Amino acid sequence: MEEKNHHHHSNKHGEHSNGGTCKAKDKDSDCTTTTTTNDTNDTNDLTIDPEKKTQDFRNYNNSRRQETVNNFYKELRTKMTFECTMEKREEHLQFNKCVMTPWDMLHYLDQVVDDSDPDTSLTQIQHAIQTGEAARALYPGPEYDWFHVTGLIHDLGKILAVNDKSKGLTGEPQWCVVGDTFPVGCQFNETNIFYEYFENNPDTKNKTYNTFYGVYEPKCGLNNVFMSWGHDEYMYQIAKAQSKLPEEALYMLRYHSFYPWHNKHGYMHLCSDRDLEQLKWVKTFQKCDLYSKSHECPTLEDVADYYKPLLDKYFPNPIRW
Ligand code: FE
Ligand code: FE
Repeated sequence: MEEKNHHHHSNKHGEHSNGGTCKAKDKDSDCTTTTTTNDTNDTNDLTIDPEKKTQDFRNYNNSRRQETVNNFYKELRTKMTFECTMEKREEHLQFNKCVMTPWDMLHYLDQVVDDSDPDTSLTQIQHAIQTGEAARALYPGPEYDWFHVTGLIHDLGKILAVNDKSKGLTGEPQWCVVGDTFPVGCQFNETNIFYEYFENNPDTKNKTYNTFYGVYEPKCGLNNVFMSWGHDEYMYQIAKAQSKLPEEALYMLRYHSFYPWHNKHGYMHLCSDRDLEQLKWVKTFQKCDLYSKSHECPTLEDVADYYKPLLDKYFPNPIRW
């Protein structure tokens, strides 16, 4: 039924014929989703609704952003291959783009809109503050200050979608930055939303990658599994190398978009005992990330006195992005 809006797309015969690769030159060629400031036509009629119920979030069937989200996932599921993930890791894990404090990058993040999100058209900066504040409300103690910081910075990796040569940013298409993540290199699991779109992913036909375990060993641990490339892995790698955040925070950063795992309990056959212990923190984080989206929002300056010293504590040096 999701096909009905896309008669002009010839799915089987190469609308996404470059789906197997994601070389830099493909970036702008057929990407229907773009990263801009708030100029999407649904912005005006989508007001923040404080009455919104828990079950109304992550509605992938008839939200007001349905077509945008649907097109987004079609592209992500089709193009994100094992090979693509390796290329993006190679490209983005060198941390040679620019040097900026996380605080400055939070302001900079404001120009990103997330096409994968059916719930909101809040700016990223508002989402960052709301997630941090939700974490703070849930675990207010100073011993959990790392959790609050993690909420604030968790989506900073979305700057990969910005096109700004002066910052070394090349404007990755949305499908290389946002959306739910999933392991590549093994069979795609039905716990993924829009699972049906994987049928056009070249890895579905690749015998190395299309078995239950694929290139992995049973219970090898998620740290040995390659996740589809996106803002989670990017921010995790930055935090791992350049912050003093604890392991729980690193798990949250790395797997917060891994909904088929933390929400649907798929992919357990790849998990170690350590992963299962950390899962509860990832689930706790997910509540802050998701259900915070409809409450009122302070500005960054309003919360600066609390977060700025904590950012300095956990990121003692400006970040090499
Ligand atoms: Fe995110
Ligand atoms: Fe988020």
